[in-house]
Parts: sequence; structure tokens; C-alpha cells
Amino acid sequence: MPPWQTPAIVLSVKPYGEADLLVDFLTPTQGRLTGMAKHALKSRRRFANCLEPLNRVTFFLGPRRGELEFLQKAELLDSFPTLRRDLKRLGAAAVLAELAGLLAAPPETVGTIFQTMEEALRLLDQGQAPPDSLLPPFLLRLLTLGGYGPRLAACLSCGREPEGPVYFSIPRGGIFCTSCRGEAAGPILALTPGTWKSLRLAQGMALDKLSRLRLLEFQRNESLALFRAFLRHHLGRDLKAWGFWEKVSCKVD
Ligand SMILES: [Zn+2]
Repeated sequence: MPPWQTPAIVLSVKPYGEADLLVDFLTPTQGRLTGMAKHALKSRRRFANCLEPLNRVTFFLGPRRGELEFLQKAELLDSFPTLRRDLKRLGAAAVLAELAGLLAAPPETVGTIFQTMEEALRLLDQGQAPPDSLLPPFLLRLLTLGGYGPRLAACLSCGREPEGPVYFSIPRGGIFCTSCRGEAAGPILALTPGTWKSLRLAQGMALDKLSRLRLLEFQRNESLALFRAFLRHHLGRDLKAWGFWEKVSCKVD
């Protein structure tokens, strides 16, 4: 590929050798990429304030060699300064960015995953909705785009809309009604009808409407417990950022 440029969201930055940095970043056309920023620690001019996780930047890249991109310079588009001053917003952004980085592989969805991440960062920066209210619908959206969408519309066994409590089978990735509960593979998480309805609503909402969804505290907790268990099942581990989120989300606003 000849020299090219792309909008990007920085996911992580690690030192490499004495002066270089290895940067993981999300792009709208190529998904997640890793790039080398040569001499970035010594000459900061080419990357002034750009190489921080969660920054939205334009990267200018040299010809690709193998799997690695060569970052020649960057321009900062948005550093989301308000988000960075609030640990809870930062925690929610870190969880979403890690998940977006893991899921951004199918070529037909990388553009939408990038757009979803941009919208999440913008909303968290503007503070229009509490971070723990934004986190569940955005986790759901990213999972759905990445091909891991929980099946919430009807009972996986009888096909009917459940009435009363809903049982989510983690390995089956979908819901069961009270009568069919016995057929669901465990572990199973019970959801109250309100939580189920909110998540179902969120799954069908346009991206720019997601911030309007308001979850009550117990609904946020039920949803987050569900996504954590669901992700752990698929990844075989927790998201790295989840520990940070747990720590900061317990604090009172
Ligand atoms: Zn059923």
C-alpha cells in the first residue's frame, strides 16, 4: 500500500526500544491496526499530544511492511478533555474502546464500529448521560455489530415473547421464558422485565438516539452483570478495562 492517511482512535500506546512507540488504533476502513511511531519519544513534534489512548486523530502512514504500519505523523482531532477529567467516564470509555478493538474485524462492520466508538466518546465527553447509563446500550451495540449480538426478541425455545422474568442463557446467547427455563443451558442470569425491555429497545434504536435511553440503577447493574458474564464466556477472561471500571464506578458522582 502506498503512503496513506486515515482517521483513527488510539487504543493503546507502548514504548518499544529506547525511542519508539507501538500504537494500537482503530480505523473506519481497516479495523484495528498496529503501527510503529519511530523516534516518537525523542522527537515529539510529529505526534504532538496525539499518542494518548482514546484520542481521535488523523494518522499519516508510510508504505506498509508486513503486518506493521509506519506512522509518519499525526494530527489531533479531539482529545475529549472533559471525559479525561472524570474517572467514571474514562472507565466506561476504556471498556468500550477495548471491546471495539477486539471486535473490529469483519470488513462490513468496521466503519459502523468506528462510528459507534466516536459517538460514545463524544457523549461521554459532553456528559449528556451518566456513564453507567451509556455503557450497557453501547456494549450491546458493539457486540451486535461484531456478530455477538444477544438474542433478545423472543424465547429461544418456544419463540414467544416472555411475560414476567426473563432468563438469559450465557452459552446460548439468548433469552428463555419461565416455562422453557429448564431447557436453557447454564449459567443463566435472570433479568427483570424492565431490563429486558430496555435492552431490546436499545438493540433496535438508531445510534444517535442511544443516549436518550435511561436505565434505572438496578437495570444498569443487571445489564452490566449480563454483559460481563457474556464477554467472559466468549473471551475466556474479563476485559482488561473492566477491573478499572469496577473500581471507579462504585464512587459516588
Ligand atoms: Zn419459551
